Amino acid sequence: MELRVLGCSGGIGKGLRTTSLLVNGEILIDAGSGVGDLSLVEMGKIRHVFLTHSHLDHIAFLPLLVDSIFEQITDPIVVHALPQTIDSLKKHVFNWSIWPDFAGLPTPDKPVIVYREIQPGDICEVEGVTFEPIAMNHIVPTVGYRVESSDGKSFAFTGDTTTNDTFWSVLNAYGRLDLLLLEVAFSNADEALSHTARHYCSNTLAADIVKLKLQPEIYLTHHKPDEGKDIYREVKSLIKNHQIKQLKNNLTFTL
Ligand SMILES: [Zn+2]
Ligand SMILES: [Zn+2]
Repeated sequence: MELRVLGCSGGIGKGLRTTSLLVNGEILIDAGSGVGDLSLVEMGKIRHVFLTHSHLDHIAFLPLLVDSIFEQITDPIVVHALPQTIDSLKKHVFNWSIWPDFAGLPTPDKPVIVYREIQPGDICEVEGVTFEPIAMNHIVPTVGYRVESSDGKSFAFTGDTTTNDTFWSVLNAYGRLDLLLLEVAFSNADEALSHTARHYCSNTLAADIVKLKLQPEIYLTHHKPDEGKDIYREVKSLIKNHQIKQLKNNLTFTL
């Protein structure tokens, strides 16, 4: 299984891209601004998009992606998301005011995107890769994902979240995890804000990670621009029993 990081920032700015991960060249997890670095040919290969939640930094380039490859694809892109996320996309994005409703274009019976509702615990298999949505604790309904290849290699991604028990218990139950991508949006200077926005800060992540009984390779993601250095310093001093690195755009993992 190949995992390519298209975007892993909590904001924009030179060199920064918001959340998007590409699995085996044809499956996206979230569609933030990192999608915009793909070539048209690469975009045309995308068959599935698994969304964590409805926030703009995770869906911003989905409308533009669909529009860009509209002419070249013959089968629809399947957008997997919670019902509440799909409702938000239909109501607030693909509503003919912000962007055309591509679930009805070019014709309602042969649209360019179709929606597929997911629920936490529902395991979906795509091209031999399984995606398990896990309920997270964010300000809107959100899932993380545990993703496993046909030969048993796996990674997990929190999406956006703060303190929770669900993610850790699902991961522990499998007994194996190769790679773990954890959001930490804020440094401890913004701890109060992190509670309001329901993101991890360094302190809350350190308090939660003791629940993890596995030893995957761990990378931090979704830092607010300019907070990355502080977050990394804090996390390194708070968490001693895991090797932790920071995620970077264009990193590719082979699992
Ligand atoms: Zn969010
Ligand atoms: Zn986010």
